[in-house]
Amino acid sequence: MGSSVVDLLAELVAINSVNGSMRDGPGEGALAEYVAAFGRRCGAEVSLDEVLPGRPNVRLRLPSRRGPAGASPVPGPSGAPPRRLLLDVHLDTVPLDTMPDPLSPRVRDGRMWGRGACDTKSSLAAALTALRRLAETDAPRGAEIEVLCTVDEEYRKRGVMHAVAGGLTADAAIVGEPTGLRPVIAHKGALRWRLTTIGKAAHTSQPENGHNAIYEMVEVIRWLRQRIEPALALQQHPLLTPPTFTVGRIEGGVGVNIVPERCSIEIDRRTLPQEGPDGILAEIDAMMTELMQRRPGLRVAREAPFLAERGSETAPGSAVVQAVQRSCRDVLGPDAPVTPRGVPYGTDATHLKGIPTVVFGPGDIAQAHSADEWVDLIEVERASEILLRVMQGFVDGSW
Ligand SMILES: [Zn+2]
Repeated sequence: MGSSVVDLLAELVAINSVNGSMRDGPGEGALAEYVAAFGRRCGAEVSLDEVLPGRPNVRLRLPSRRGPAGASPVPGPSGAPPRRLLLDVHLDTVPLDTMPDPLSPRVRDGRMWGRGACDTKSSLAAALTALRRLAETDAPRGAEIEVLCTVDEEYRKRGVMHAVAGGLTADAAIVGEPTGLRPVIAHKGALRWRLTTIGKAAHTSQPENGHNAIYEMVEVIRWLRQRIEPALALQQHPLLTPPTFTVGRIEGGVGVNIVPERCSIEIDRRTLPQEGPDGILAEIDAMMTELMQRRPGLRVAREAPFLAERGSETAPGSAVVQAVQRSCRDVLGPDAPVTPRGVPYGTDATHLKGIPTVVFGPGDIAQAHSADEWVDLIEVERASEILLRVMQGFVDGSW
């Protein structure tokens, strides 16, 4: 076991945990075993919960207690279960790709390079080191800490979804991701679905006998963009950029000499936390009905969404946000930038509905998923120190 957060990070990077649903991914199993063993050595209660074959979530729990190891737990208010702070960090990485020596961490100029060094093994190393330091003290703990290490964040987030479906609860949560040590409290959501125009096939020597589904789709796209894009640009959120509408795929026709009978598009709509999928799809349906009235012969079919992830946000005044801000100032200095931000992408936090959540960790998202993935080691050390203070404040009841 590495004794410093940097040694630990090097060990984590060396374990291949490429998402098992992505190219060449062996999955998170080996890293999960490593983390479980780390937790047992810390004296945490450890459980592995298989989400996909050979791909378990790992939970490390430091229970509340009235005194040193072996003392009885402290119940929550009026005998309820103890208060719980959750740290959620994903185990998986994106594929190794063209990165040179992705599993041999290299340190130079205060940075470490390697797959996952930034996203998000630096957050994992910071959380585990903070947990170990908290476990090493004999101080009473008036609340419990749980570190949940999830699988499949980079693909479909089935790890955190499995934990939530299994009854995961917490009074507050911190999700480890590269945020440059800034608290992030708002995420956009994503809604994706397919639309198909249906025409009539004919030989292209007599196209008048057919009905060209590709030409109809051109009209559909133009119609939707004209109506949707200006309206979205006017929508506002204090921390997020306006929602967006993108046609990301198109497919139609079977050969150059056949009038195409079908043309499909896939739409990616990024949403604000206040927007729900039902309202968005109802609006699309109404627009299509109107277009069909204007264009006799147009037939469009909309499928149910294949992805519907709502956006999420935590109130800036929440206790967990303030605790992270306080600890950031303690460690980084009084001028540390701690104003909460929003991000356009999703994380495990998107699924922790109803739990006040801050996304926080070392590293810059610009280095994540790239062939040049690195993290500043001083940020990793500071992240661990900040997390330790947040945890200590939670268990001693100061927030
Ligand atoms: Zn990540």
